[in-house]
Amino acid sequence: MAGRFAPSPTGDLHLGNLRTAALAWLSARSQGLGFVVRMEDLDRHQSSRDHELGQLRDLAAIGLDWDGPVVRQSERFDLYEEAISELAGRGLVYECYCTRREIREEIAAASQAPHGPPGSYPGTCRDLSAHQRARRRAEGRPPALRLRSDGREIEFVDRVVGPVRGVVDDVVLRRNDGVPAYNLAVVVDDADQAVTEVVRGDDLVSSTPRQIRLQELLGLPRPRYAHVPLVVDAGGERLAKRAGMAVTLQDLDASGVGVAETIRWISSSIGDETTTLRELATRFDIATIDPDPRPAPPWAAHSV
Ligand code: GLU
Repeated sequence: MAGRFAPSPTGDLHLGNLRTAALAWLSARSQGLGFVVRMEDLDRHQSSRDHELGQLRDLAAIGLDWDGPVVRQSERFDLYEEAISELAGRGLVYECYCTRREIREEIAAASQAPHGPPGSYPGTCRDLSAHQRARRRAEGRPPALRLRSDGREIEFVDRVVGPVRGVVDDVVLRRNDGVPAYNLAVVVDDADQAVTEVVRGDDLVSSTPRQIRLQELLGLPRPRYAHVPLVVDAGGERLAKRAGMAVTLQDLDASGVGVAETIRWISSSIGDETTTLRELATRFDIATIDPDPRPAPPWAAHSV
């Protein structure tokens, strides 16, 4: 049984990522759970080993530890393909030849938005005949694979956000470049790594019903979920590496803010100021986290 942090190694972690990682770790350790780190490096163009090492260095710097080796999604395609085959064998997968642009245009032209989270697939390729599929293939279009969903509504109670419901759409399982899709990979990995508690940013809450449905279809256990608020800048925008903001440990160090100050900010943001997260882990409860967006500390606005 474990909690986890699953960053995409596409850059340095910023204060928002570090706070989310700390909350995931605190929640796991406060309950005596294991804690694993998984690198979500399916995007081979943006991911790099340098970013991965930098992220692990920063997680360790704020006092997090993890159990076992760090797992990389790029090395686990077999597991994802196995899951896709299982779904395909039950008639739950179809080929989709649409480009993103075609999907956007189709949604814009439709009188009713498709069911599911914003941008949900309108089902264009759901019922293509073998002939139509062959024609598209002959045009040189590689297909993505989608779940043949049944428009089912999934409900769950998030430990921070509260009750959540969402309709499951025809989510992509394998992208048209052959890479397994995030929602599929995350479900396979959470189960394979015995993750029983998912603490992550609340930008992912609308994807959770899809992930729960995939767990159900694959016969995998459902972890508990806690979606924590993102950290925002003075304009209310989610934190990102932008000119004029010191948001990574390295930027902060360069502008004279040490790691201890960052840990103090993380702990005070949950109403319990300390300089070591280990001490906090003795008395932490994720259910006490305020679901509203979290303002960045004033010192992050300083120019680097
Ligand atoms: N890799 C995702 C991200 O960095 C997080 C996925 C998850 O926690 O499920 O945003």
